[in-house]
Formats: sequence, structure tokens, C-alpha cells
Amino acid sequence: MAIFVSCTKTTEDKAFIKSNMFGSVYDNVIITWVVSNKIISYTDIESGVSVPSCVQPNCTHSKKNAYCTAQIDDYAFGLINYDNSLYILGREFIYKCDSSGSNRRIIYEIPLKTDAEYEYSSYPDTSVLYKDSKIYFVMINNISKEVEWEYAPEHFQTVTDSTNTNSYTIHSYDFKENKGEVIYETEFYTFSHLNLMEITENNIFFNLSYNANTEWDLMTSDEVFKSGIDIFNLNNESVSCRLNIKTGEFIEFDKHLNAVSGNYMYFIENGEIVQFDWENSKSEVVYAAERAQVFDDTLFAYGEWDETYQRCDIYFLKDKQWQKAGFDFLINFETRDYFVSMDNNSNLYAILKSDYYAGIDTSFKIG
Ligand SMILES: [Zn+2]
Repeated sequence: MAIFVSCTKTTEDKAFIKSNMFGSVYDNVIITWVVSNKIISYTDIESGVSVPSCVQPNCTHSKKNAYCTAQIDDYAFGLINYDNSLYILGREFIYKCDSSGSNRRIIYEIPLKTDAEYEYSSYPDTSVLYKDSKIYFVMINNISKEVEWEYAPEHFQTVTDSTNTNSYTIHSYDFKENKGEVIYETEFYTFSHLNLMEITENNIFFNLSYNANTEWDLMTSDEVFKSGIDIFNLNNESVSCRLNIKTGEFIEFDKHLNAVSGNYMYFIENGEIVQFDWENSKSEVVYAAERAQVFDDTLFAYGEWDETYQRCDIYFLKDKQWQKAGFDFLINFETRDYFVSMDNNSNLYAILKSDYYAGIDTSFKIG
């Protein structure tokens, strides 16, 4: 079962919202959209009760019931509960409905990329952020038209099917003002991915990975295979970016961003967490780790991943002291009071944050 959820955070409507792609979370409730049956549900972590966002009496919430308000025949990557309404980021539209799922209507048509030369198929990525009354999301613009590409004349070719060449546009939409805009657009990249990382008062952060060997731009994967290139060795580059959403100032870092907290960006370099204070342009090593994350305003450090036991040592910085977690619990996202983990079978487990820090394993399976 694949679940797509959004990466969201708010302080404005007093509902705690923060998560990653596993779910849109407010207070201790997770809103999910399940791809297999296209149903939007609310799951209360404490009771484990999952309720489809449907107001139809005796509804079985199946695809056959056209009146089921939990059904959405579209993508639903961004699910935001704001001011007693549920907002849904679809493939080309943003929808608004009552929290119950009823009264759904289109409130925004996402401006799709157009170009005289190429035809794009644009669709939203799972990467979504939310702050205050605004949602930030990414549209992938894939070139799908037959294209005569003259970038490399010695390899002149006509691309006739979907390629792996994309550009990315970062959009924002303000629920309060009912206004959307494109805030950033990338170049074209092959075998690329853009992942929104964090949104703060003034800045949005994202990681961008792409194949730096631009000669192969606009080749289909089939053509790449036929040409005998090892696609896993395509000189992949990974950069992280900080865009000031107020001034438009854009800074690219030649590093993969792990986490953001306050004025700090966290990168991993040579097995150590480097904390970069961008207000003062100061860097310092804070701990040895293979990966860093921030949950509950707390910095987590992860040791080397053990393939055999499918685990790693976890440390967290509390009261200016590094402590080792008392048990294995890989945090995927958090709600107001809980850390939530997802196993390989998409089962969700929760533990009270206070118990986690105290080293008391009271984790339980949700539902
Ligand atoms: Zn229903």
C-alpha cells in the first residue's frame, strides 16, 4: 500500500502541522490519500481509528459510488487542513472542501509550463511544504512532444517518447488570499529530482540532484541503455538551494542538505554533521554521523546503517547534550505529541515524544 502525504507545518491556525511525504499531520491526526483506492482518510493516532472523509450515509467508499466524498479521481499529494477546510493538491487543480469531505470545488488552476517549442506534461511531485496560510509544491515539467534537439549536433536525434528530461517549477498558493504564483523554475536536467526540504520565515530550502553529463539531455532511458551508458554512473550532482521568498535571493550550495533548524543548515561531510549558520556564515562540526534530521526542534544524528540488522544507532541533542536513543525507532514524521515511524510494509508506529526522550519504549502500531 502506497500512501502519499505532504510535508506540512503551521503555527497560524493553532493546529500543529509538520510531516514529510508520509502524511499531512495536524495535532495528532494524519490525513492520507491511498493510491490503491483513491480514498482520503483521517487517522487519529491515539485511538487508531481511521475515518474516510465522507458524509454519505451507508457509503462503502468504493470506486463505484460516485457520491462518496472521500473518493478523488485525481492525485492528492498535498492534503492540508486549514481553517476548518480541507485543501487538496491535485494534478492540475487545488480543491477545497469541508473537513467532512463535502462541498468539494476547484479553487485554483495550477499554471502549467508552456513553451512555443516544446510541449510539457506537468504533474505535481510528492514534495510539499506548508507554512502559515501557504502551501509550497513542485511541478515536474516533462518534455513529451517529439523534439528535434540540436544541443549536441554530433548526437543529433529525434526524441519521440517521454524522456527523462525535466524542469521543475516551485509554486506557492495562499489559502487566505486565494492567490498562487510560481516562485522558482529550474533548468532542464536529466535523471533529476527536486526535493523540498524546509520552509522558514524567509527561506525555502530544497535539494536538487541531476546528471551533470548534459550531453545526454533529452535522451529516452531506452536510448541511454542502448548507448551502453551506465545510468548509475552518470556523474550525478547534488546541490542544495536556499531561496529567500521575500527578496528572491538565491544561493546554491555544493552539498546535500540534511536538515534545517532556526538559522542553521546541516550538511554531512566526511562522516560528520556540519552546522552552517547562514546569518553569520559560520560552520562548525557538531557530531559524527552519516545522516542528520530535525524533529521537534531537536537535532538527530544517525550512525552507519547496518544492512544485516536493518538498523543504525540514533543520537539526539537534548539540553545541549548528545544522548543515545534507548531503542531503535526511526522517525519518519511527527505529530504534535508523537513521533511516527513507518516500516517496509507501510505499517505506522507511534511513540509519545516524552517517552522517546526518556528511553521508555511505549511504541505502538497505529490502527
Ligand atoms: Zn464514502
